[in-house]
Amino acid sequence: MAVDSPLQSRMVSPTTSEKDVKALKFIEEMTRNPDSVQEKVLGEILSRNSNTEYLKRFDINGAVDRKTFKSKVPVVTYEDLKPEIQRISNGDRSPILSSHPITEFLTSSGTSAGERKLMPTIEEDLDRRQLLYSLLMPVMNLYVPGLDKGKGLYFLFVKSESKTSGGLPARPVLTSYYKSDHFRRRPYDPYNVYTSPNEAILCSDSSQSMYAQMLCGLLMRHEVLRLGAVFASGLLRALSFLQNNWKELARDISTGTLSSRIFDPTIKNRMSKILIKPDQELAEFLIGVCSQENWEGIITKIWPNTKYLDVIVTGAMAQYIPTLEYYSGGLPMACTMYASSESYFGINLKPMCKPSEVSYTIMPNMAYFEFLPHNHDGDGAAEASLDETSLVELADVEVGKEYELVITTYAGLYRYRVGDILRVTGFHNSAPQFKFIRRKNVLLSIESDKTDEAELQKAVENASRLFAEQGTRLIEYTSYAETKAIPGHYVIYWELLGRDQSNALPSDEVMAKCCLEMEESLNSVYRQSRVADKSIGPLEIRVVQNGTFEELMDYAISRGASINQYKVPRCVSFTPIMELLDSRVVSAHFSPSLPHWSPERRH
Ligand code: AMP
Repeated sequence: MAVDSPLQSRMVSPTTSEKDVKALKFIEEMTRNPDSVQEKVLGEILSRNSNTEYLKRFDINGAVDRKTFKSKVPVVTYEDLKPEIQRISNGDRSPILSSHPITEFLTSSGTSAGERKLMPTIEEDLDRRQLLYSLLMPVMNLYVPGLDKGKGLYFLFVKSESKTSGGLPARPVLTSYYKSDHFRRRPYDPYNVYTSPNEAILCSDSSQSMYAQMLCGLLMRHEVLRLGAVFASGLLRALSFLQNNWKELARDISTGTLSSRIFDPTIKNRMSKILIKPDQELAEFLIGVCSQENWEGIITKIWPNTKYLDVIVTGAMAQYIPTLEYYSGGLPMACTMYASSESYFGINLKPMCKPSEVSYTIMPNMAYFEFLPHNHDGDGAAEASLDETSLVELADVEVGKEYELVITTYAGLYRYRVGDILRVTGFHNSAPQFKFIRRKNVLLSIESDKTDEAELQKAVENASRLFAEQGTRLIEYTSYAETKAIPGHYVIYWELLGRDQSNALPSDEVMAKCCLEMEESLNSVYRQSRVADKSIGPLEIRVVQNGTFEELMDYAISRGASINQYKVPRCVSFTPIMELLDSRVVSAHFSPSLPHWSPERRH
């Protein structure tokens, strides 16, 4: 093979397997001429879906070219597609969006009216996702040798699923993938051997699943070469689980018997073949390490052969980098891919780079991609100035510029705004590479929850009604995602004004109710994380002294903000501002119980 690209120049090692060479060649092919791949992808999508009600509505009359498509089909958001999605979810099987049957809905962590968005998907999408996964290890093997000599300790979980009124499954994309034959019956591959058995991954009780996965990881600690979860928050949850449960885990190891907390018969049966005999030495080692006060570098102590952490720490997850560095003693963190429920997008061709330098190369075969130039006047302004003709092709984006991602998928999303803002950092061959900048409209995120300004505002309004009768008024508020302790939690700062001179504030009991009322008002992803996954802790309200928000404004103005245009930030993270707020706190209150959540959607 000719050596004419950076990726290829890394490929020529005689030890590179045939399978890897094939995958790397595929990446080269896709990135050499992304424009022609994109043209072909759009042509395929439009020709197979020409009979759909949606495309017929725009009179494209069977045209498959980009010009006609862009001039006739509008750029849309989820809200625009809601009637169609609703009909499909109610059981209408006619070709509304896609000529291929919609096999299930993927429940996005983005929400609409407080409920998860439903993304249509078709059977063959699994192959497309599988294809992207199959490219990850060949790329990683170029940078980290010997990964076939051990195992990956990955904390992977399925989440609860429901059925729509029309009988289609509605579940997160990873749950759908782990439950598919693609994952369950994957052929043996020495580069993809996990310590977690499928039975543990597929158990929907997250506590039993976590216990079994952690136990396997401990039993095979010397074999573990990489450690991961999908997002950084997931890996930190696993460490926090270890912190709370190491005694019980050590007891199981020292006695060679499984804790009675594991009652799922499938896991029990599988574990009986893994936990076969007592291992006193390992148990004592664990007790020695875990009973220490200081857990700095614990990952490398327990899993000494770990070469890197495999977790996404770009976007909202960047807040976890310092904590992961602390626990891992500075191991590299590999962000390997960029994906969503709507479609998988791309991969990181330099997975061992620093988190701040991560760029994803969008694979042009996954969907048809367009890029809406993003202006910096805030999301509202960008919204107002949507110019449908200004969308740019994948091959035409410019280095340094920011864009909002717009996709057209095989399953029937046409010119759909994903809501992610990306910046072009360079090219691999002719394919652009993107840094993930942020998700539009997301204020707070601990795990997969994404709370926007409107949701926060509504929650604050609902809660403040609880003391309105007393005459107390909410003057201002802002918020903060507190992630130093695991699980993280939402902190809301409130400045209140009492009815009279005495400025008597609501009682502790009322304030606790306010915390819970806010949680009840937040979206279903938040409530699921609180109730089912326990990956978010109780919401906290910190009441600050009167005048604090004025001080905040003074501070912003002293740093150059305009008095006329100053708006209270609805979320803060800048250290001096946090310090100012925290120094003015007069009382702190936590949600006393869990909000309501059930897998069924509220209609
Ligand atoms: P979901 O709709 O729940 O599947 O979430 C998909 C969203 O998660 C994407 O649109 C991004 O906003 C975010 N996301 C996915 N992968 C990454 C990544 N590698 N880095 C940053 N954010 C990501």
